[in-house]
Amino acid sequence: MGGYPSNEKSVAAPCAIIRPGRTNHPEEHSVTARILDGNAFRDQIYAELALEIAALSSAGIRPGLAAVLVGDNAASHLYVKSKMAACQKLGLESFLLTPAATISTAELLAVVDELNRRDDVDGILVQMPLPKQVDSKKILDAVHPDKDVDGFHPINVGHLVAGRPALVACTPSGVMEILRRGGIAIEGANAVVLGRSDIVGKPMALLLMHANATVTVCHSKTKNLPDVVRRADIVVAAMGRAAMVTRDYIRPGAAVIDVGQNVITDRAEAERIFASFPDKLETFAKKGSVLVGDVHPDVAGVAGAFTPVPGGVGPLTIAMLMSNTVKAARQRRANATGAAAARH
Ligand code: NDP
Repeated sequence: MGGYPSNEKSVAAPCAIIRPGRTNHPEEHSVTARILDGNAFRDQIYAELALEIAALSSAGIRPGLAAVLVGDNAASHLYVKSKMAACQKLGLESFLLTPAATISTAELLAVVDELNRRDDVDGILVQMPLPKQVDSKKILDAVHPDKDVDGFHPINVGHLVAGRPALVACTPSGVMEILRRGGIAIEGANAVVLGRSDIVGKPMALLLMHANATVTVCHSKTKNLPDVVRRADIVVAAMGRAAMVTRDYIRPGAAVIDVGQNVITDRAEAERIFASFPDKLETFAKKGSVLVGDVHPDVAGVAGAFTPVPGGVGPLTIAMLMSNTVKAARQRRANATGAAAARH
């Protein structure tokens, strides 16, 4: 990752400044941590991408992203809609393919193959989850590695492991942007990644290791989890467990990045998690649901810096998808120009 200068001037002190900020009244919550504002970082990235897109445009290139959205999953529709809207905002070409939920693996492979061949398509994303009858692994492996803007293809994963240039999974890339742009010192830091999935935990750990952090990866079998996490200067939480990381997990002053996105629909659970957050309870009362990360919001009273949910990691994931699409366009078309020049 990288390629974007960190905007050191616009950030406050790094998380080495310790502000414990505990309160004597359990019913009150205090926010002493610096908020790492994902929307602001996304806007910085979009401004930088706009310059790159303008330069490509004057060379006659308009990067294009194709999204394959199978079936009627409501959440998938929402995610893809946001991705298409981001393309439009930045002036990227976008193509939406919506095969029926009954599609077979062979038919979907043919759709991907066609997109691999199209010269106006630089990036391909196949929105997960796919229907049960479709072999998801086969589909993801069929996306050409040069167009694999989600960074899921084994070739891109292998390049990441080896520290070679690659298209890297968007969410962990976004976390690295937050850390760099947020002025969090990574080199030499103890980083703990909670979760070891292929799309978040593993690439996250590799990116942090390549940036010279000392990385510990935790999972559901890790013993003494709070003790392990308490050693961290940087915590990245990606377990899909609502508000699991509480204050007692966090070393005062640590930077806490919350990847989790959990929709709470149970009133008792909402009341337990948000006992001292009336605005969140009000949201729940209005909408019947409320979003919470994997980190309890009380952690803001002990961390040095943290990402809110919503408005933290989420906006960066789409920004990195846009960034990967522009990068894929630049690289693929440069390769094509080089090959054409070599033929003459
Ligand atoms: P997965 O379910 O694929 O992986 C969860 C990981 O967390 C597993 O490695 C699992 O361990 C570990 N885990 C589960 N429970 C515990 C526990 N009690 N203690 C320690 N580790 C545990 O999830 P994803 O990686 O896909 O997503 C993680 C979270 O990030 C979700 O909330 C998801 O919604 C969110 N997300 C947010 C994105 C964004 O843009 N903001 C994008 C992608 C995901 P084990 O391997 O042992 O099972």
